[in-house]
Amino acid sequence: MLTDMSMVTVVDQTVGGGRPPEAWRVAMKTAVRDAVQLCRMLALPPPHEDAAIRAAAAFPVFAPLSYIARMKPGDPHDPLLRQVLPQREELHASPAFTRDPVGDAAARRGPGWLQKYHGRALMITTGACAVHCRYCFRRHYPYQDSPRGLEQWRPALAQIAADPSLEEVIFSGGDPLTLPDPALAQLAAQLAAIPHVRRLRIHTRLPIVIPERVTPAAIAWLRGTRLTPILVVHANHPQELDAQVATALASLVDAGIPVLNQSVLLRGVNDDVETLAALSLRLLDCRVMPYYLHQLDRVAGAAHFETDVTRGLAIIAELRRRLPGYAVPRYVREEPGTAHKVLLG
Ligand SMILES: *Cc1c(COP(=O)(O)O)cnc(C)c1O
Ligand code: SF4
Repeated sequence: MLTDMSMVTVVDQTVGGGRPPEAWRVAMKTAVRDAVQLCRMLALPPPHEDAAIRAAAAFPVFAPLSYIARMKPGDPHDPLLRQVLPQREELHASPAFTRDPVGDAAARRGPGWLQKYHGRALMITTGACAVHCRYCFRRHYPYQDSPRGLEQWRPALAQIAADPSLEEVIFSGGDPLTLPDPALAQLAAQLAAIPHVRRLRIHTRLPIVIPERVTPAAIAWLRGTRLTPILVVHANHPQELDAQVATALASLVDAGIPVLNQSVLLRGVNDDVETLAALSLRLLDCRVMPYYLHQLDRVAGAAHFETDVTRGLAIIAELRRRLPGYAVPRYVREEPGTAHKVLLG
């Protein structure tokens, strides 16, 4: 993740020409960046200050106002709050929880991109996100090494062009949709000019966190490219999917863009059958297909979110009894060095 200041810079550089800034940029700018303020807004006592400050020093708080508005005031266990509020447990060292739990460093193929799986290149397009998820597996990723701007992407583009096995490119990060549409459209156009690239996948939490990000301009470049676009959003709890998010997702689906969802199994957020069943059903109401339920990656600072695989498997078994087959996400874990995500259930 980039710090607050670098995100402000991104916003300031790209708003120009006297036009009013787009709503999603305003939402980024006005996001809450302080644990004490976040608690005050929700009528909660401040977090244990010393621990919160030390946890936030390593990975700052970042939560947009519209996401906070979906939290229940006065509830310290709110499932959305738990995803963004630093806890003192983040400071407990746990040897199995490391800075690079999924082997990103070993999968690096060139500046700003990595490959773990056949045919799929993953570009770290930015370090910025629209929310800082405390359990993020890339919370310690060295984003400063990633390219910024088309010129710096040239070497990666040349490498992708030289490898005909790469049929799919994934924009990841960070969150690619924190970048301006013209920059994304330009990068997509460069990839579309490579004959063997067929699909462009976008891994993003923005349509969930700041639904205003689904602008006509975003839909235009997603639809306009020769590549098959696939959007993979990230929601963990049905309470994240309010009416405004549903409208944003509908405009993507109406435009013919396939939208899938991935979630992370998180203790105290969604580690129960009722929540995950409601999430799947709400996603289907939004015409979004449940894709993955990830076992937590063992990233330093996130041990308090871990749920046993045994419990995860029991939840999946019950979901299978209750829901249509297509509504049950694939329960997977990432194992560095394995040629695909490992199916747990
Ligand atoms: C998860 C992941 C993918 C995509 O995997 P799918 O199983 O195709 O969704 C691609 N590259 C990397 C590095 C990943 O971590
Ligand atoms: S949006 Fe994704 S990349 Fe960004 S902090 Fe959350 S989990 Fe990590």
